[in-house]
Amino acid sequence: MAQADVWQTPLIYLKGVGPRRAEVLQSELKISTFEELLEHFPRRYLDYAHITPISQARLDQEAVFRGRLGPFQVRPIAGERRAILTTTLYDGQAWMQLIWYQGWEWVRQKFSAGQEVLAIGRPTYKKRTLQLSHPDLILLTDGRLPQDFLRVYPLYPLTEKLRQAGLDNKRFRMLFEELYRLTHFQKEDPIPESIRAQYGLLSLSEALRALHLPTSVEEAEKARYRFKFQEFFLLQVLLIRRKHFLKTQYTAPSFTQAGPLVSEFYEKHLPFPLTEAQKRVIREIRRDMALSVPMNRLIQGDVGSGKTIVALFAALIAMGNGYQVALMTPTEVLAEQHARSFRRWLSPLGIGVGLLLGSTPLAQKRRLITKLATGELSCVIGTHALFQKGVHYHRLGLTIIDEQHKFGVKQRAALWEKAHPYRPHNLLLTATPIPRTLALSVYGDVDVSIIDELPPGRQPVKTYIRTEAQRREVWNLLQAELQKGRQGYVIYPLVEESEKTDLKAVEEGFELLRKTFPAYSIGMVHGRMSSERKEREMNLFKLGQTQILVATTVVEVGVDVPNATVLIVEHAERFGLSQLHQLRGRVGRGAYPSYAIFMAQTDLSEAALNRLQALAQYNDGFRIAEIDLKLRGPGDFLGTKQSGLPDFKIADIIEDQAILRQARQAAEELIAHDPTLVLYPTLQSYLSRYVEKYSLELFTA
Ligand code: ADP
Ligand code: MG
Repeated sequence: MAQADVWQTPLIYLKGVGPRRAEVLQSELKISTFEELLEHFPRRYLDYAHITPISQARLDQEAVFRGRLGPFQVRPIAGERRAILTTTLYDGQAWMQLIWYQGWEWVRQKFSAGQEVLAIGRPTYKKRTLQLSHPDLILLTDGRLPQDFLRVYPLYPLTEKLRQAGLDNKRFRMLFEELYRLTHFQKEDPIPESIRAQYGLLSLSEALRALHLPTSVEEAEKARYRFKFQEFFLLQVLLIRRKHFLKTQYTAPSFTQAGPLVSEFYEKHLPFPLTEAQKRVIREIRRDMALSVPMNRLIQGDVGSGKTIVALFAALIAMGNGYQVALMTPTEVLAEQHARSFRRWLSPLGIGVGLLLGSTPLAQKRRLITKLATGELSCVIGTHALFQKGVHYHRLGLTIIDEQHKFGVKQRAALWEKAHPYRPHNLLLTATPIPRTLALSVYGDVDVSIIDELPPGRQPVKTYIRTEAQRREVWNLLQAELQKGRQGYVIYPLVEESEKTDLKAVEEGFELLRKTFPAYSIGMVHGRMSSERKEREMNLFKLGQTQILVATTVVEVGVDVPNATVLIVEHAERFGLSQLHQLRGRVGRGAYPSYAIFMAQTDLSEAALNRLQALAQYNDGFRIAEIDLKLRGPGDFLGTKQSGLPDFKIADIIEDQAILRQARQAAEELIAHDPTLVLYPTLQSYLSRYVEKYSLELFTA
């Protein structure tokens, strides 16, 4: 039988696994083959040589304790069917309580008072008592571990159902011993040998043995290191290979000269001196566009960092070389806003700008489309309308996509297709900063530029964290600004567009504001409205016809109303920090001093309050993103749906940044010398499995 087939053997063929256990392994852990069992990682290792005296227990630090069990007590919980099981552990000097809140039948069956055990867990303090809740217990006989017990013992993540089926740590250990006897863990390694040698990694077989049957904790750590590396490496190879193919398979028009428009604009019409960061990014774009390899560059820059004029320079290069430019935005408001800026900047050069929206009247749309097809129009700005079926371009040389994460891979690709047989150069813009290491995984297949400097003279938004008790003061501030002729936003959280209670909060907020500020007109936008209605409400606010806009986070995306100086966010604790920072960017866009007030619940925990204080403390989106990422983890930070990140099983994208960098470097070297990976069939098969497993939608099409 071929090697690979052995690993696909159903677990029922492993000694120690019967039909019942096979079923529980499948339902609890989604494990059904030899191979999947191997990939079940221990959550930690117990080194029973390191026993902590109970008197030296440290709170929240997992440790091994050794002592005798006291009598067991079952206490019912009032009003519930389940009961609590408690006992004590005494080590001759001190004692602690052991407690199980549910599913403790197995404890009662296996253990009794007076027995000597090892108890492993994380001590906590409750009601002045040192406690271990749901500890792992290992029975000692005559003060010794069971005979077959190694000094280093892997502890697997276990559930109650697994335990009830007899699948405890000891059983897992036996299963791995049996599996080792059958296979010696001989499995082809996806990581090429040269890379293993260079980065000091155990081979797959060695690592599997050290992982499941370790002889020391150090060895087990080396195995874990290797698997972390492997997880990062697989993703990085995919991303870098993608990037490589994009650059070699497609051709873009190469603009070896910046063209006449750049110098004319720069010398005669530049509205303000560029920041150093803007100049640097423009140079990077200029270099990319000189090549016949399609540019695929993402500009990350905080709100207000001036990405639009950077995009304009890219447009000037393309147009100056006789090519067309399409700038796509997720909303019509944003498209109109960009059209205004581009028209202001391009009219002195005698260049017209078309605006193509879903709502553009048909006759006008037709005229625009004709002009694009003939090449009479060289710059068009719009929404999804830009890549609709009937739209053809004469010579599309550059696409710019603002708030790129609002578009799917297919939508971006649909626009790029319009340049056929070329690929256009692509510029992607985002105001959602992502910390660098995370960017390596999320945007691993594009080049990233960062505008990390705000234009001079910006007044930082004064930021306050307030509670309900200070409501009057908050309304007074809004009132004072309205009296000066300014405008304000009041934002309510809307976690799910479908959550009725959230919608109710917005509507009630709207009523409350109407009562509190009867002299002013108040608008409302939320995600349940039709997009036309949303646009209309936004425009009324933009034109100053409404003074207060009550909204959900739909206003997050790039609305520019320089006259708005107050932002009040209700229930700020329900938002991510990065999102709050984005919201804050809605004010402070004009010459006036501006205010952001984050309303927090009165009984907020100190940790939650500190989290919000970070906003009052920092104004830098990258800094805030880093804090946010640390606090919430990558899944919540990115929002699982759009993250494009697989769930790493063992690697931690924050803790293991150093390993990530190495894995990326290794992947780069590998793709540079064998982009098709013909020499690495094992790696290839791992990669295809990986893509399938995570249904990875990679960043570029
Ligand atoms: P964002 O990066 O959020 O898209 P914009 O491009 O809309 O930012 O720029 C925000 C504001 O700052 C605009 O009014 C723009 O004209 C202005 N601006 C951009 N760059 C500079 C600069 N170097 N000096 C002064 N003002 C600038
Ligand atoms: Mg913008």
